Amino acid sequence: MMRDRDKISMLTQEVESLKSIGQKYLALQEEQHTLKTQYNEAQKTLEEVGATLSENKLQLAELLEKEAKAQTVEESPTWTHDKDATACTACAKEFSIARRKHHCRRCGHIFCAACSDKTVALAGNTKPVRVCDACYAEVRLT
Ligand SMILES: [Zn+2]
Ligand SMILES: [Zn+2]
Repeated sequence: MMRDRDKISMLTQEVESLKSIGQKYLALQEEQHTLKTQYNEAQKTLEEVGATLSENKLQLAELLEKEAKAQTVEESPTWTHDKDATACTACAKEFSIARRKHHCRRCGHIFCAACSDKTVALAGNTKPVRVCDACYAEVRLT
């Protein structure tokens, strides 16, 4: 008789603990569900923020490109790049460490120091700028 009672109380205890485990499990499941929803919402917000960011980035890139284009046009359409020039445009002497390249600020071509040792005040510059002999002559005439 006692043995059966012990067994019954043991089983009852087990059932109780199983019940509480089951309740805990349900609570955890609910919590997980809430977390999942929150995670999904956060993910959505992140995606939206990301989309806005990349949109802003695109707009910024476009603006920068436009600005760069506008600047290039303003500076000089025929600006010769340093690496494109191997010799002075005027006297055709080749450039070296001793004979440095100089840009004429008016025509944009590259000259040696001897052919571009004049400076003139050009519109858009506060200080007199280096020009080649040909440009210097033209500026003096006008
Ligand atoms: Zn020269
Ligand atoms: Zn020039």
